[in-house]
Amino acid sequence: MLRWSIASVCMGGALEGKFAAAAKAGFRAVELFENDLTFFNGRPRDARQLAADLGLEIVALQPLRDFEAMPDPMRRRNFARAARKLELMHDLGARLLCLCSNVSPEAIDDAAQAAADLAELADLARQHGMRIGYEALAWGRHVKDWTAAWDIVRGADRDNLGIVLDSFHICVRGNPIEPIASLPAEWIALVQVADAPALAMDPLSLSRHYRCYPGQGDYPIVDYLDAVTRSGYRGPLSLEIFNDQFRGASAAAIAVDGMRSLRAAGEALTAKRAARGEGPIADLAPLPPAPVVEGAEFVEFAASDADASELIALIEGLGFHHAGRHLSKGVDLYVQGGINLVVNREREGFAHSFSLLHGPSVCALALRVDSIDKALERASALECQSYVGKIGPGEATVPAVAGVEGSLIYFIGRDDRRWRDDFLAGPDKTDGGALRKVDHLSNVVRRGEFLGWCLFYRTVLGLSPQPQVEIVDPHGAFFSRSLRSPNGELRIALNIGEGGATGVSRFLEAFGGAGFQQIALSTDDIFAAVEAAKAKGVAFLPIPDNYYDDLATRFEIAPDLLARMRGLGVLYDRVKDGEFFHIYTETFRDRFFFELVERHNYDLFGAANTPVRLAAQASATEAEKRAEIEFE
Ligand code: MG
Repeated sequence: MLRWSIASVCMGGALEGKFAAAAKAGFRAVELFENDLTFFNGRPRDARQLAADLGLEIVALQPLRDFEAMPDPMRRRNFARAARKLELMHDLGARLLCLCSNVSPEAIDDAAQAAADLAELADLARQHGMRIGYEALAWGRHVKDWTAAWDIVRGADRDNLGIVLDSFHICVRGNPIEPIASLPAEWIALVQVADAPALAMDPLSLSRHYRCYPGQGDYPIVDYLDAVTRSGYRGPLSLEIFNDQFRGASAAAIAVDGMRSLRAAGEALTAKRAARGEGPIADLAPLPPAPVVEGAEFVEFAASDADASELIALIEGLGFHHAGRHLSKGVDLYVQGGINLVVNREREGFAHSFSLLHGPSVCALALRVDSIDKALERASALECQSYVGKIGPGEATVPAVAGVEGSLIYFIGRDDRRWRDDFLAGPDKTDGGALRKVDHLSNVVRRGEFLGWCLFYRTVLGLSPQPQVEIVDPHGAFFSRSLRSPNGELRIALNIGEGGATGVSRFLEAFGGAGFQQIALSTDDIFAAVEAAKAKGVAFLPIPDNYYDDLATRFEIAPDLLARMRGLGVLYDRVKDGEFFHIYTETFRDRFFFELVERHNYDLFGAANTPVRLAAQASATEAEKRAEIEFE
């Protein structure tokens, strides 16, 4: 039957940890990469037992390299080598030996010889009760395409020999996918699944450094799975990702990402079949539907008493009013328009631990969803870690799942205001503030975490990733990719810190990991909002005069409007008939900042101005450093 599998090569660390991570993420099948066995401190039968104890089937041993179409004496030696591997497979309990196309410069360009060698190998394997799978590597010496490998397999004509299909090699070569649907299923030995970004690069480098899980790249993986399943193939669908970033991350996280990516691919496959009027494939358990995320209900900050008073001054300076104190906790609620900000000063519990690790920070984001049950079912099916915090008697429970760096994502039902009942109402006040709602948030993440968090937001919350952009920083550059809910009410930008002195890397250092760096709030009148905030002492990022001189050359802007922007430090962008005004507060304790935005028929993030913001933030940091040096 169809079943999800993962190759041990996807994960880093020792074999024991890889098997445990795979089993915990819900896999029941693994491909064993032979190096993992070589480095395993035990006998092959111990590895077999380890897998069996975890409920894992070893579906294949791989790879046998540089085997077919070799001149003697290499050819002879290869058969001796293959015989040893077949012996080993008895101990491992694996029945399939995967052979990848020869990359040796000594390989002979002779498909008939290759077929004869595979036939002989299959006959040898039959004596052991084993099967052979043959896979075309995109960088094979003579066999690079699955169609060429198929010709050789068909030429060898053995019933214990089949083709191994791998979406990476097929897509990187631009091979046709549709004919896979016509292959006889019994001739497909194994199906491997891997994606990659569409980068112009040699296939080997792309494979080593950028190969990724389905849906994390640009290849038509769902079309591939569709073709494979239409052939009638019902065996393992196995992730095989060679990627140094993956192996550098925790095996547990990578295994969970793998399962999430496969289940999301399975969901897309079911949708594709449904569009043709076909039912789902019975072997693949359906994924509960993604919740409808309607927007951000509240943003929660964790801070010590000392930091909290300064943070509250900033929040109140931005026009928020104190709307209540929590019934049983040192937690306060600040409200303006449709924005709720929670400041948590508790000295125990989740927020406190979070602030001990990260300093003042956004520790949680509460999302308004159409159904909490739906959100939790989906999250649980996708192996999210759930969380229920300590609550006082009679208080609302707000279920959550772990997000970036252990921050929380709470789920709040549509129209459910019960969480607000936990706050003793503050003075009744209709605010006259100009801020309306949370416009977007940004996360800074390490490069090795980026694909995983992108996958999390996409699969768990149903957000759609937008194209990746590169942003220039005075100290380098970084990549950014935003994701948005279908209604556009939740937008999260993921920025990748890669070391060096860029703004995002400084954040990672100050914060001690990944986290929320930016909270953007929308307004209908940015000038009124900024003037009111300045009058209350809020410091905004100073913008150089040159920016406004340049702006005047790029756009036709009424002189008094330009003067007003210059006077306040408001940034500007225009696309067709859309206009965007925005401004940033100074960074709070090197960690996060607020952005105020006013949109007119404009759906982007003002990326054209991001380098100006980054330069201004970098010069603020440098000025601080100079001040410290003078002080010392
Ligand atoms: Mg492969």
